Amino acid sequence: MTAPLTDEDVPAFWGALGLPGLIDAHVHFMPPRLMESVWAYFDEPGPLIGRHWPIVYREPEDARVERLRAFGVRAFTALLYPHRPGMAAGLNAWALEFAARVPEAVPTGTLFPEPGVAAYVERAIEDGVRAFKVHLQVGGFDPRAPELDAAWGVLAEAAVPVVVHAGSGPVAHGFTGPEPFGAVLTRHPGLTAVVAHLGAPEYDGFFALAETYSRVHLDTTMAFTRFFEEMGAFPPALLPRLRDLGESGRVLLGTDFPNIPYPYAHQLQALAGLGFGDAWLREVCWHAPARVLGVG
Ligand SMILES: [Zn+2]
Repeated sequence: MTAPLTDEDVPAFWGALGLPGLIDAHVHFMPPRLMESVWAYFDEPGPLIGRHWPIVYREPEDARVERLRAFGVRAFTALLYPHRPGMAAGLNAWALEFAARVPEAVPTGTLFPEPGVAAYVERAIEDGVRAFKVHLQVGGFDPRAPELDAAWGVLAEAAVPVVVHAGSGPVAHGFTGPEPFGAVLTRHPGLTAVVAHLGAPEYDGFFALAETYSRVHLDTTMAFTRFFEEMGAFPPALLPRLRDLGESGRVLLGTDFPNIPYPYAHQLQALAGLGFGDAWLREVCWHAPARVLGVG
């Protein structure tokens, strides 16, 4: 297996691993106006970002879908999230419409602590949503909020995975860190969760949650890229635990496409550079996300 240097090399990367492609558990698609405002936020380096963040794939939606197809990404989430009450149900409707016209997209919903949240989460699942995204950093809310308790229960009961931005990177805000989300798991130990960015920068605490709860996973989003390492190097002492978690199917490929300041290939190159071997990469880039997202 050769690590891809450019995006053109990506199909050769998964081909050499003997995979039918890639499954990316952390991709963003949103209604165009919301995506524009997210991009404007990255342009400004606002307080939740804290540094220059030039987005490479700032293209119309259909061009971004075509990019993923050209990379060989056979399935991907379409993560979106509200920053205030009253938005989530509308976003969920948009996400279902998006997934209906883009077959590779796993229908992805979201939620916010507000009255009626458990009901619209339940409805979204009935309507076909197969993954959720919760952004504790942008949302700035406490995952232990009483309004959310029933919603976590609905997700756990339905075994629908939720991708949670629960770590304090790039900037701590709201109720990030392993303790608030850990308290949710204490109440809902069967919840299928995917902790974004390997839980950065609180890797240790989030790895411990994955080691404790068999349905807690981690996604690789931005981890080990030069950009991310400049913000805070991954502690080398944790590498053996990452290898073990990956081998046991608990680490999922995630990238943050399109909101990344480097080519897509660089994420794969960074993971291949860990030297954990082809079997580890096969698990991370295909088998683990296929199981969690119910692909194939
Ligand atoms: Zn993201």
